[in-house]
Parts: sequence; C-alpha cells; structure tokens
Amino acid sequence: MRFPLHVATDMMRWQLRNWWAGNKRVPIVLMLEPLHTCNLACIGCSPERYTGDLKDRLPLAKCFEAIEECGAPMVSVCGGEPTIYPEIAELIEGIIERRKHAIMCTNGILLDRFYRKARPHKRLTVNVHVDGMRQTHDFVVDREGVWDKAVEGIKEGKRLGYYVCTNTTVFRETSVDEIEEMVAFLSALDVDGILLSPGYHYEKLAGQDHFLFRDEIHEKFKHILELSRRYPKISSTPLFLEFAAGLRDYPCTPWGNPTYTPKGWKGPCYLIEGQYYGSWKEFFGGVDWDYWESRQDQRCHNCKMHSGFEPSVVRKLGESPRDILTMARWQLADVRNASSRHA
Ligand code: SF4
Repeated sequence: MRFPLHVATDMMRWQLRNWWAGNKRVPIVLMLEPLHTCNLACIGCSPERYTGDLKDRLPLAKCFEAIEECGAPMVSVCGGEPTIYPEIAELIEGIIERRKHAIMCTNGILLDRFYRKARPHKRLTVNVHVDGMRQTHDFVVDREGVWDKAVEGIKEGKRLGYYVCTNTTVFRETSVDEIEEMVAFLSALDVDGILLSPGYHYEKLAGQDHFLFRDEIHEKFKHILELSRRYPKISSTPLFLEFAAGLRDYPCTPWGNPTYTPKGWKGPCYLIEGQYYGSWKEFFGGVDWDYWESRQDQRCHNCKMHSGFEPSVVRKLGESPRDILTMARWQLADVRNASSRHA
C-alpha cells in the first residue's frame, strides 16, 4: 500500500464527513509556517523566508489554535526551517495528540538535533528537501555540503525508524536524466516516498532563469510520468503527474492547502502573497476563491504546483469512475522495498 492505511482512512473519513455536511470547500493539508528563519538562502526563495527573526516566530498556542480552527487532518510544518523552531518537538507532539498527521519539511541540515528531541511515530513524516544530485542541489541551496548532510539525515532517520520522504522542486537546471538518477538513488535508500513538483515562473520572478514556463513543465513531466511507472516510490499521484505533463486539466484548489504564518493566514495560496488575515474566519470567508480557482490571474498562468493541484485531484475524483480506479490501483500498489520496476 502506497500510503499507510491509517493515513488513507483518516483522509477518506475527513472527505466523507465534509461531503455529508455539504461543505463545498475543504482544507486538506494545513501549511504551518511557525517561523520565517532559515539557515539557508536558496535561489528563488523569498528573502522573508530566510531573513525572518526567530523572535517573530509563532507561539505554540497560536499554532494549535490554527490547527484546530482549520481542522485539516494533515499539518505540514514548513517555514523557514522548522528544525530551528525551539519548540519543534512540542509542536509535533501536539499535532499527534490532536490525532492529526504531521509532515516536517526540512532541508536536513539539523536533522540530528531533531532526532535527539523527537520520537518516531506513525503520525509523523520527515520530509527532506532534495533538489537533485549533489552538484545541482548544492547550487540550488547556494551552499556546498548540504546534499551530503541531507542524505546523511535520510539514512539516519530510516535507521531510527522514522517515516522519511523527500520533496523535489524541478528547476530548469534539473535534467530528466538527473531526476532519474536521483529517484533511483533515493529508492535504493528505501525512502518512503518521493514527491516531485515543478518550480514555475511568474512575474515576480522575472529575471530569474531557474523557473519553468508551462510548456517546459509539460516536457519534463512527460518524462517524470513515465519514470513514475518504473519507480513506484514516486508519490506524486498519477493524475497530478498527467496534469503536470499537460495531458489533463484541473481548476486550482487553493483552499486545499491553507497557509498560516507569523503574519497570519496567507491568501490566496501558499505561493502568492495577496493578503494576510488575522483569523481563520476572515481568511476563509474573505478570499475570492472563485477568482483564484479559475486561474485567470497572470501569476497563475504557469503554475502547476502540487499544493494547488493535488487537492484538485481529490476534489474532482468523484466525477470519473476511471480516475477512481486509477487512484485505487495506485494506492494499493505494494511499494515496500521497491527500488525500481527493473531492479
Ligand atoms: S494556480 Fe498556483 S499561484 Fe494560482 S492560486 Fe493556484 S496555487 Fe496559487
């Protein structure tokens, strides 16, 4: 089974409960940024995400309030770099106590420190950012040695019994051959999932040549879709990969991954800083979801981010029995110790 049974059933229960209640817009994963402090300054990352002052972090009580108000069954703790957050172990414990699933997204540099403070749990995923093999990754994060540290953290996490996944942003510099090399390498480390998402180009990033335009995304993701048939550890859903490859279309579902930060609830989505809202109610009732769902904004034209469109896969699933079958087969596939189909 691709995702552990307790994760799949919790997600299904949440969807059914909302469907029964007649809720049209359902948050699925809360993107919780408890701090904007980072120990890296990656290319393309907004300066606020790494120059943030640690004293401006969210207090634990605010994090838990956001988790409860939003209600999503999954909480992705990102930032900034969450391993720097002094209360990270308490935050993860609090998420687990609330019977949610925690995903801790990290660059891996301080994972040894995290492993000393936290404990493995079936409701915790450690998600390590890996943007390619050594040279590309260290270029993207703008520091030598980070790839080695991340790989060390993955190996140690697996040894200690954590559920360890990886997350890759595909840039213009990332060749398809390198993606295959990386996927084969990570599969051999027996990671529990490999998520691949395109870094896309929008106006604010003009002048930065690392991000992909829509046609370039389609080209790269046609290859990645084919790779996913040979490397079952790739955990992006087949329907999302078809979308990223330009073989199907979806409206956006920006409310699927709402973002809470030290500045408040960020609308409309994880990527675009339109406005910050003081309360969940103001945010959920205040964003013009019809407008953002339609992708008519210029900043949405090249966007194929998993945070906007994996929730669309879930939302639109009920409309096609064929898609339901594809997803059921995909979820039920045995991916334990699967290095590759041709290994
Ligand atoms: S298309 Fe992308 S940029 Fe636009 S609202 Fe959706 S996730 Fe945000």
